[in-house]
Amino acid sequence: MNQIIRRGNKDFIKELNRSLVIDEIRLKGPISRTDLSVNTELGLSTITNIISELMNEGLICEVGSGNSNGGRKPVLLTLKGMSKKAIGIKIENTRLLISTSDLNGKLDYKQTILFPQKLTAQDITSLIITEIEKIYELYTGIEFLGIGIAASGLVDSGKLTIIDSPIVGWENIKFKVLEEKFNIPVFLENDANVFTLAHLWRGIGKENHTIIGVTVGIGIGAGIVIDRRIYRGEFGGAGELGHLIIQREGTPCYCGQRGCLEMYASDHYLVSEIARLKSLGADSQLVKYKNINLSSVSREAEAGDYYAKEILIRQGENLGIGLKNMVNLFNPGAIILGMEGLDHSEYLIRGIKRELNTHFFVKHPKQLDLFFSDLGDDAWLIGACALVLDEFFKIPIYK
Ligand SMILES: [Zn+2]
Repeated sequence: MNQIIRRGNKDFIKELNRSLVIDEIRLKGPISRTDLSVNTELGLSTITNIISELMNEGLICEVGSGNSNGGRKPVLLTLKGMSKKAIGIKIENTRLLISTSDLNGKLDYKQTILFPQKLTAQDITSLIITEIEKIYELYTGIEFLGIGIAASGLVDSGKLTIIDSPIVGWENIKFKVLEEKFNIPVFLENDANVFTLAHLWRGIGKENHTIIGVTVGIGIGAGIVIDRRIYRGEFGGAGELGHLIIQREGTPCYCGQRGCLEMYASDHYLVSEIARLKSLGADSQLVKYKNINLSSVSREAEAGDYYAKEILIRQGENLGIGLKNMVNLFNPGAIILGMEGLDHSEYLIRGIKRELNTHFFVKHPKQLDLFFSDLGDDAWLIGACALVLDEFFKIPIYK
């Protein structure tokens, strides 16, 4: 029994070291073996072993040589096979985002296709097939490694099925057909996990093993990373931060509970607050909006609207309470926060920070890092492509 545990740890460390090296080449390459050793804090012999393994697998190659301090110029290493690409897709209720990326996760082709709400499962898969066919026509001679798909709600990654996506109103959408049609692997993942993966892929939270990514928009979702792997839970749905209850007997939520965080910190909150302002006859520009979202409230706050500022601060505080609960549960080293349709809101951030000033671990010498995503919609696509690339770079025995 002990032997099995030791063996497992050894394999895990090997995999971890290998992904550290690949990440470093991807983010900083072309790079020398010595710099890889310094940056990853792995011994030169470990680096040499990993490099020869990656070279034998045809994943990296040597290119030219770098600067030296008088001695022999070091040989630089870079990722090989730029004729290989991943396809990334994000499905929303009225938009399909699709892209391709190279092995570095750099997006090249990028399209947004708008469609009417409530398309059938059949229509969605047909639309995706048409868009992928366009990519195949555009990039002849390129090897496509796989298709990564990000979708909201409860997904079964193994069966490539969206089980239930209450925000979008979908049930039981299957993507196996894509695998059969294009004969390449397809990966399906909850969008908050994909968002988080995109940032890890970009090197954010690199020093931490436990990281939480949070997306706020129509809904609120979290991607939980433990030991640098996405934690999915038993049913594949871990991280439903939006349905953490923060108010006893609070506002009814569409999930069947009451007092869910989503009712106090997502777009739902803005809609209900603006309805309240209208009923009070408040002197605010917000009452003129028919459709309200984070960016419109933020715009009015910047223009000096008192109520807009207050709503954002309050929404931030509510969100901060949710984040604090996650911090106390998981003790992450970093939180990556993404606001859909918004890069930055001083007032919202003020509210979040006010709450995050206190949590169980504040006295610990290590501090919680809070990152605000600046990737916008690219986060979904980078993450969706990373689903494919992560698999591609895995140690062969794990495939
Ligand atoms: Zn709920």
